[in-house]
Order: sequence, then structure tokens, then C-alpha cells
Amino acid sequence: MVRFTDLLRPTEAGLYCPPGDFHVDPVRPVPHAVITHGHGDHARQGHGAVLATAETLSIMAARWGEGFAGAAQSLRYGENVKHKDVDVKLVPAGHILGSAQIVLGWNGIRIVVSGDYKRRRDPTCPPFEPVPSDVFVTEATFGLPVFRHPPDGEEIQKLLKSLRQFPERTHLVGAYALGKAQRLICLLREAGYDQTIYVHGAMATLNALYERHGVALGKLAPATTDKRERLPGRLVIAPPSAIADKWARRFADPLPALASGWMRVRARARQRHVELPLILSDHADWDELTGTVAELAPREVWITHGNEEALLRWSQLNGIAARALDLVGYGEEEGES
Ligand SMILES: [Zn+2]
Ligand SMILES: [Zn+2]
Repeated sequence: MVRFTDLLRPTEAGLYCPPGDFHVDPVRPVPHAVITHGHGDHARQGHGAVLATAETLSIMAARWGEGFAGAAQSLRYGENVKHKDVDVKLVPAGHILGSAQIVLGWNGIRIVVSGDYKRRRDPTCPPFEPVPSDVFVTEATFGLPVFRHPPDGEEIQKLLKSLRQFPERTHLVGAYALGKAQRLICLLREAGYDQTIYVHGAMATLNALYERHGVALGKLAPATTDKRERLPGRLVIAPPSAIADKWARRFADPLPALASGWMRVRARARQRHVELPLILSDHADWDELTGTVAELAPREVWITHGNEEALLRWSQLNGIAARALDLVGYGEEEGES
């Protein structure tokens, strides 16, 4: 009898596929890696060969240079490739530009590794594509019923209202440099904000990369060139660590805001000196996690990391076998770094 763990199993380097002889999102250098997306906890350098979407490969090259791996192969969404005996396909995960779920097929078994994902619309990437499987591998960053992300439009309106209310203050919005920042900019543009948006120097490369891949961001300018420019009433986007930093003091009475799923937790906002918390996440919230598991109805749910306890219990109560993999090395994003 073939077991699911014959196709995929947790190891110290991450999820390993024995019949295909490759790892998924390995946390240490391996000969063959299939990568779900470009965030640093999933995409690391030094592998022998990497298979990922073209966008993810560009992100890795932007971070480490072209030599980030011995060899790189890009795969389009929906395209099939055989890795030894295993069929490998990438389908959209709706998380960030280039993010993919990895669909593995072998001996009549199908396992989907979703990487990080969300179900709500994101103007910077195609939506999550549900693929029925025997095993659905999911994260559980926001795997507690308390985490329910409000509609994005509400959060964007909060920011626009504050800009109108405090026209003398520079609005400094902390946003993770890969994915969140560009999504925030796109959502602002969709809401009609057509002024120049000022961006921290750490984001310039990734913004340009998004634009090269067809994501229009509108008029941007560096927030760091002229120290005398205090930008009252303007919007500045910076990495989360910069908004309460010495760097922030150059601006006009800066109003620190932070775009993160964790902003649901008031104590976190206070701790980070955030005056305007914006609940904007690139990860599935509780309803999206449970809704996805219910929709896919896999035979087993494997939870890689995060708040797995409640999702584990929820799956079991709904007749789906569930197991926590307790993988280490993931989850250092979502505005925490
Ligand atoms: Zn991610
Ligand atoms: Zn992650």
C-alpha cells in the first residue's frame, strides 16, 4: 500500500519528496529545490537547482544576484513537468507576485503544498486556484478565530481619511518590502489616490521588479534623497522597522501606520508605536483557512507552521484527518521583520 508520506515527508531541511528527489522550500542548501515564492523564509540561496515561477526566480536574483543557485528553471502556472517519477505543477497561491502552490502527482496520489496563500483579491497577482487533493499542506499564521481580516477597502479608506484629517503630517506606512508594499500601493491607486507616493530606498529594487512584471504602481519617488524635504501631508511607505526609527524623524510630525495582519492585536500596535493600525495581510485569515479546507475537502490536512492547534481541531471536528508538521524556519514575515 502506498502512503502519503512516501510522496512527501517533513525532514530537517524542509518537506522532501523521495520519488522526485527534491525539497519544497528547503531551509538549508539542497541539490534540488522547488520554491513556492520569493519571501526569504521560503526562498533561500545556495541550492544546486531551483524550480519556480519566472517571477520568483527574478525575486531571488534581485536579492542575491544571478548566482543564487547552481541552476534555475522557470515553470509557468499550469504547466506540467516531470521530476523523476513525480508530476510537478505550479498553480497560483494569491500571496505575492509569482507565488505558487506546488501540485505533486505520483502513483495516483496528489499532494498540494500551498506555501503561503490568501483567498481575497490581490491586484498584484492571480487569485488562489483551488486544486482538489489527497493531502492539502497549509500554513496557519492566522489560525485562530480571533483573526478575521476586514475588507481591504475599509483599511485603505482609513488611511485616506487620516490623510485628509491631518494634512500637516507625513503618513509613514510600514509595509513588508516584498509584496505588501506593492499591494498597498495598487490598492491606493484603485481607490483613486493619484499623488506621488514616496518610498524608502530599501524598496526601490522590488518596486521596479514588480513594474517589469507588469504591475503598474503609478508615480513613485524616493523618500530619502533630500533631507530638507519634510513631505507634510504626503504618504511614505517604508519597511516596518523604519517607521518608529531615527529615520522617521526627518518627516513632518510623522504619523506612524503599519499594514499587517497582526494589527488586529492592539497590544502589538502599541508595542510598535503605531498610531494608525491597518489590518492588511497577505496570509489567509481564520475564515479563509477553514473555508479553503472545507472547499477542498482533502483526506488529510498537514499544517506546516503558525497557530496550528485550532485549525487542527477544526479539521478533525469536520471529519478531516489533520497533523501538525512543526516545520522550523518559516514565518519571519508579515511585518514582523
Ligand atoms: Zn510568504
Ligand atoms: Zn512564509
